[in-house]
Amino acid sequence: GPLIAVAILSITLMCIIMTRRLWHSSLKLSSSMRRLAASEAHAQHLARHDVLTGLPNRAWIEEQLNERLHQLPLKRGKLALLLLDLDRFKMINDTYGHHTGDDLIVEIGQRLSSLLPVQDAVGRLGGDEFVVMIGDVEDDQQVAELCQKIIARLAEPMTLRGHTLWVGVSIGVALSPRHGLERLELMRKADISLYAAKAEGRGRYCLFVPAMDEALQKRQRLAQQLHLALENETGLMQWYQPIMDVSGQKIIAVEALLRWQHSQLGNISPAEFVPIAEETGLIIPLGEWVLEQAC
Ligand code: GH3
Ligand code: MG
Repeated sequence: GPLIAVAILSITLMCIIMTRRLWHSSLKLSSSMRRLAASEAHAQHLARHDVLTGLPNRAWIEEQLNERLHQLPLKRGKLALLLLDLDRFKMINDTYGHHTGDDLIVEIGQRLSSLLPVQDAVGRLGGDEFVVMIGDVEDDQQVAELCQKIIARLAEPMTLRGHTLWVGVSIGVALSPRHGLERLELMRKADISLYAAKAEGRGRYCLFVPAMDEALQKRQRLAQQLHLALENETGLMQWYQPIMDVSGQKIIAVEALLRWQHSQLGNISPAEFVPIAEETGLIIPLGEWVLEQAC
C-alpha cells in the first residue's frame, strides 16, 4: 500500500539527487581537467621558450638540432649551424642599463626571425647568444650571403627608450655533414669559429676550418706547458737589454725580457706565449716572477 509508494518515491528522489550530484562533479572534473591541460601546455611552452624573447630556448634548439641531424643522411641534405654573439654587449648594459639591454635583445630576436624563413629555426641560447639552423643548404656561398645579410641587418641603428643604439654581431658557422654529424661536435666547432670571428675583429662571420681546431689544441698545450714551466722554474729566463742615454755612452737602465726555451718544443716566441698567458690569467704570476728575478 502507501508504505510501498512512499518507499518508491523516496528511492526515486534519492536517485534524482545522486544523479544531479554526479552530473555536477563530473562537470567540475572536466573543467579542472581543462584547466590542468591548459596549464600543462603553458608549462610546456615555458620549458621550450626563452621568456625574454619568446624564441625557442637552448633545450628546444638542442632537441630540434638532434632531430634534424638525425634526418640529414636520409635526405642527403646539408645543414648550417650559426652561433651568434653580440659584440661588446656588456658595454650597452653598462652605459644604458639592463632594461635597455633587454629591449635590445628582444629587438635582435625579432630582426633575426624576420630575416629567416619559418623552417629555419632561430633560438636564444642565453645571454647575448643566439643560434640559427639552416636546412637545405646548397653551398658555402649561400651561407656566406646569409651571414652577411644578418650582420648588416643587426647592425642597423635602433631606438630604445629614447636612445639610438648600434650593436654588432659575430657569427661562427659549422656545417653538417662536413664538420660533423653529432650535435655536440657541431656546436663545439661553431663555437670555435665564433671565437675566431671575435679574435679577427668582430662584426664578421667565420666558417669552421680544421686548422682552427688545431690552433686551439696547440694553445691549450702551450698554456699547460707554461703553467708547468712557471711552477718548476724551468725553461723561463730573462734577457737584459741595456737602455742607453742619448749620447750612447752610458747605460741608464736595463729592460728585462722574458724568454722561454722549452726542452722539447725549443724556443717559443713571446709573441706566441704572452697572449696565451694573458688569456689564461697566467700573466699575473708570470709578471711577479719576472719582477722578483730581476730584482
Ligand atoms: P664580446 O664582444 O666579447 O661578446 O663582448 P660582450 O660584452 O658581448 O661579452 P659577452 O658576450 O661575454 O657577455 C655578454 C653580456 O651580456 C654579459 C652580461 O652582462 C650580459 N647579459 C647576459 N644576459 C643578459 C640579459 O638577459 N639581459 C641583459 N640586459 N644583459 C645580459
Ligand atoms: Mg657578446
